[in-house]
Amino acid sequence: EGGLEATKRAALADDREAREAVIDDLRLRSRQEYLTKREQQRLDLLKLEIEDEKILFRDQKMTKREIEAYERKKELIRIMEARQRIDDGTDGYMLPDDYITEQGKLDRKKRQNALYQRYEESKPVEGQFVTDVDQWEESQRYKTDLRTGAMDREVVEEAYDYVFDESQGIQFLQEGRLDGTLTAEAQAMLDQIAAAEKKAMSIQETRQSLPIYEFRDELLEAIAEHQVLVVVAETGSGKTTQLPQYLHEAGYTKGGMRVGCTQPRRVAAMSVAARVADEMGSRLGQEVGYSIRFEDMTSDKTVLKYMTDGMLLREFLTDPELSTYSALIIDEAHERTLSTDVLFGLVKDIARFRPELRLLISSATLNAQKFAAFFDDAPIFDVPGRRFPVDMFYTQQPEANYIHAAVTTILQIHTTQPKGDILLFLTGQDEIEATEENLKETMYALGDKVPELIIAPIYANLPSEMQAKIFEPTPEGARKVVLATNIAETSITIDGVVYVIDPGFVKQNNYNPKTGMSSLVVEPISRASAQQRAGRAGRVGPGKAFRLYTKWAFKNELLQDTIPEIQRTNLANVVLMLKSLGINDVLNFDFLDKPPAETIIRSFELLYALGALNHKGELTRLGRRMAEFPVDPMLSKAIINSENYKCTHEVLTIISMLQESGSLLYRPKDKRVHADKAHKNFIKPGGDHFTLLNIFEQWADANYSQQWCYENFMQYKSLVRVRDIRDQLAGLCERVEVIIESLPNEIIPVQKAITAGYFYNTVSAHYTFSTSVPLSIYKSHISGALDDKGEGSELTLQARIDKGGGYRTTKNNHSVYVHPSSCLIGMQPPPRFILYYELVLTSKEYMRQCMPIEGTWLSELAPHYFNKSE
Ligand code: ADP
Ligand code: MG
Repeated sequence: EGGLEATKRAALADDREAREAVIDDLRLRSRQEYLTKREQQRLDLLKLEIEDEKILFRDQKMTKREIEAYERKKELIRIMEARQRIDDGTDGYMLPDDYITEQGKLDRKKRQNALYQRYEESKPVEGQFVTDVDQWEESQRYKTDLRTGAMDREVVEEAYDYVFDESQGIQFLQEGRLDGTLTAEAQAMLDQIAAAEKKAMSIQETRQSLPIYEFRDELLEAIAEHQVLVVVAETGSGKTTQLPQYLHEAGYTKGGMRVGCTQPRRVAAMSVAARVADEMGSRLGQEVGYSIRFEDMTSDKTVLKYMTDGMLLREFLTDPELSTYSALIIDEAHERTLSTDVLFGLVKDIARFRPELRLLISSATLNAQKFAAFFDDAPIFDVPGRRFPVDMFYTQQPEANYIHAAVTTILQIHTTQPKGDILLFLTGQDEIEATEENLKETMYALGDKVPELIIAPIYANLPSEMQAKIFEPTPEGARKVVLATNIAETSITIDGVVYVIDPGFVKQNNYNPKTGMSSLVVEPISRASAQQRAGRAGRVGPGKAFRLYTKWAFKNELLQDTIPEIQRTNLANVVLMLKSLGINDVLNFDFLDKPPAETIIRSFELLYALGALNHKGELTRLGRRMAEFPVDPMLSKAIINSENYKCTHEVLTIISMLQESGSLLYRPKDKRVHADKAHKNFIKPGGDHFTLLNIFEQWADANYSQQWCYENFMQYKSLVRVRDIRDQLAGLCERVEVIIESLPNEIIPVQKAITAGYFYNTVSAHYTFSTSVPLSIYKSHISGALDDKGEGSELTLQARIDKGGGYRTTKNNHSVYVHPSSCLIGMQPPPRFILYYELVLTSKEYMRQCMPIEGTWLSELAPHYFNKSE
């Protein structure tokens, strides 16, 4: 193709104008390809759907409304196909002029636009034919709306008086130069660094080159002298990898004692342990090991143990004095995860009666005074960091789609900027995969004439052998782009990063104590976070940070600091844990920052409703058993309750599958239709939970084979993890004396067992459920006022569902929707009551992993909660 050849040729030319033309072309091309691909996916999906519906239509099994929808779909397919023919030039509309004259091109564009418009107008109404892609798109748009919507209109117009031209690249604003030149000083620095890099360093040399090394002896002295020490040093100084080794070298691991180091993230614990094992010349799992939920990579030999903060918290249950540790490092304290915050209170307590125990609180930011004050004015050891200047760039206007903007920026950097790797912050695996695919396609289209771009993703579920890729040194002449979640903000340091791209978002679990609901939400980051991200560009030399938002947004729309997790999450887990540790007065526990009292009260309510606490707030036998399981109390209740229904075998599988349900299905872009078709085969009556059960059992029947996963479009790694999780949970069942029995092919007992734990997450199709009325109404509503099944009349229900498929939570009458991926979509008649696993907020609040239940079960299985009047 001529255009592409030209692109390649231009890429070879080394004058700047030509290179810029390449970028422009690329940008258009990638956008167009992206749009076409999306269209194709949508079309494929529609076709697939209509195939099933044809039969319903033929057999006259459709309501009038459904027939209308069906007709619309057909029309939509027709229009989309017609448009594709226009795009392909196979519709007979193409005139020779279209290729040759400017006017002809314009005319063609006009015809296309008219068609596009017809297509836009015929777009389905909201809530119909939603695919994941649509959802994702919509959520992106939603986020931008949020951001621009928050702006004061006048200010926007005043500050951003320009016309945005789609064909232009992203215009970044000032505070540095983007033209690829550097000041003489910066250039000199870069040269110096390049020279230093050339001589390959041995592991020892690398260790000694870290900023913390100079302070090794001083640090050890301070540790010997003070029981608690707060260590502050810039990210990448060597806190995580070196401090435990220093302690080991200084003899803290003699006599079978261990040094423990906590990490807020699973990936960090694994990758850092691997690195340190390397540095110490030992195999991972021997002297150096890690422990994360459902995976223990330690042995009797292990003296340096990296673990997630949640795992250390669980160790308190078996060994309340943590007597095997001589020293504990609470690392990344600034992240303020829920578990770290709880650990603070607990380790402070054990330090009192274990005077020989050493505590290090290590943090990347200067907010260390707060930690020091909390630990009775512990001394702060400040390791001065090295930092190079970072030029800041902002976009001129809010970007509508930050993935697209990020890809464009990567190409802009790749083609115009001197050597140096790129780090892009995204919010999760889905985004990382979408971006990776997008980048790969664009690079592929460019051919091998542009320098190589190595794409290295990193997120929590990435298999560990692939995680290593981000640390591999970039070969000469190539450039690496790391697509990372927030994990690269402080937990992991990637050497060689010179350019940082920050879209300004993070995925967080947010909990609303008023409604008692939590959901995963993509939110703007804080200014502190943004500064930390930008700082990642200045570690090896002078760097550049590209913020995909405006300076105005930075100043006016971001919070100063991130809100600690303890103040924005459900605490039922923590309360159950503290209770089982014998800490009865949870409200007055020694918290660094107190959680809202309302949240604690909600947790008590939930634990009481689950039967884990009695009416005096004391731990029950059930609660004690529940605390043994490293899962949410609602899940552990379901597991234990399943013994009453003799279906623990099935419930264990379902619960293990739920843990990984986000990453089970393999849906490659080019085979999406096949994959979706294959996945449809697994649907079972009884809801998504049974589909999950079916997947696992079929895989087990196939001897857990990898080939089976390949044929059925499943992620092998995820299923293997499910099996591991299941084995562990089964082991714990034994410990708390739950006998694992099986009821194959039965639905209701399994549904009931799960409902006994998950009654909080239920919704009904009725309007009248509301906590604003006396709680006694629940019971009369469920088992009295309506029919004997506790259901509303067919008419009201149908009218309600027709209004857009919305349901109301039984807890607080909040509107939620069945996720389009659920097998409950389109179920006839629609279920009146649904139990869900989790809520995700994209364009709406969606319930993921849904199961139809009977309304009467609620008062039967959760009498504490639904029969409060008694
Ligand atoms: P800090 O905890 O102060 O942020 P770290 O101890 O994590 O610093 O990092 C020190 C150095 O070790 C960094 O240069 C980092 O690149 C390197 N490093 C850490 N983990 C790995 C790994 N898995 N592979 C290669 N290098 C690593
Ligand atoms: Mg660290």
